[in-house]
Amino acid sequence: MSATPETSTDATTDATTSPAPAPVTVLGLGPMGRALASTFVAAGHPTTVWNRTEGKADELVAQGATVASTPAEAVAASELVVICVIDYAASDSILEAAGDAIKGRTLVNLTADSPDRARTAATWATERGADYLDGTILTPTVTIGTPAAVFLFSGPEALYETHRATFASLGGTATYQGADHGRAAAYDVALLDFFWTSVSGLMHAFALARKEDIAARDLAPFARGILDLLPPIMDQLAGNVDDGVYPGEDSHIISVAAGIEHVIHAADDRGMDTGVLRAARAVAQRAIDEGHGTDGIERLAEVLGRPAA
Ligand code: NDP
Repeated sequence: MSATPETSTDATTDATTSPAPAPVTVLGLGPMGRALASTFVAAGHPTTVWNRTEGKADELVAQGATVASTPAEAVAASELVVICVIDYAASDSILEAAGDAIKGRTLVNLTADSPDRARTAATWATERGADYLDGTILTPTVTIGTPAAVFLFSGPEALYETHRATFASLGGTATYQGADHGRAAAYDVALLDFFWTSVSGLMHAFALARKEDIAARDLAPFARGILDLLPPIMDQLAGNVDDGVYPGEDSHIISVAAGIEHVIHAADDRGMDTGVLRAARAVAQRAIDEGHGTDGIERLAEVLGRPAA
């Protein structure tokens, strides 16, 4: 299949110097699918949309999109087909329903799920004669079409290059992460791991503060200060994790475990759910039991990379 790049410059190509915006189909009109479709329409792409539940395309049609009545009709409308639904079970069922229409199409799956499911979907699609790119969106719907949007793509590089100008219509930065179809999803799950465990910690902190008659909004400015501690040390921690270096001179795991213990006591005293904290404490204890108590917290990434005993 043809893989002539629409542009050889970067992902933020100026639309005025690009060829006419290519037709694009968007399958899935949840909040993110609607944001993608609406941005394609605004950028001048002839845009066809489909959603399982009818009625979600009304606003897009008013903006200039065309609504298809079946996945096959939607896929037939454009060489480039973007899928963005809740998970791969949903995207698999939509693509299966599209049947032979996917032959010769380029499918770009922006649905979030696991790396292995992305790889399986890529194999399934390519066996049926479609080209397949996987991608992930790292920013919320309000960023789509703005400089704040962040997209990662993985799969055949020639395919990415072919459609790069169309991806540029979505704004922000798009980065190609390599030929492995699962690689974009691998970044996504690792970053969601960070996000959800952080959010869980923040909610627990708000709950604990409220038990002590401190409003969440009174804690928030100080919580922001805790977050600000991370950016300056992020790269050094990452480098140490990659290099297997665990310096514990400034703070070590025995001290971290004692700190977690104080929080567990305070939360237990107020009858709170301490499951997540106990899990964090158990990981620190594993490191201590293995003789790494005086290592720095980077050691925990090594411990967490192995199954719990
Ligand atoms: P959802 O994750 O809730 O997905 C909703 C879409 O999935 C709708 O189109 C819905 O169709 C469809 N869907 C759900 N189940 C099925 C099914 N069994 N068969 C067919 N279609 C189904 O909302 P979003 O649009 O927000 O998210 C889409 C993807 O984008 C997700 O993977 C999400 O993680 C990712 N994402 C979202 C962000 C956001 O800010 N919203 C940010 C970054 C990534 P119907 O209307 O018929 O229910």
